[in-house]
Amino acid sequence: MSLTGLCQVCEAATASHACDRCGRAVCDDHWDERARACSGCAAGRG
Ligand SMILES: [Zn+2]
Ligand SMILES: [Zn+2]
Repeated sequence: MSLTGLCQVCEAATASHACDRCGRAVCDDHWDERARACSGCAAGRG
């Protein structure tokens, strides 16, 4: 999986993580390090 491009949540910052649960590329602001998932998955969705 490539991490080039923008965060697929905010589409404003460069993506630096890839969520294993939903496959989205997300920026630091939308990454939950504890859950090791994007903010959406870490919140219990999906
Ligand atoms: Zn973002
Ligand atoms: Zn996710």
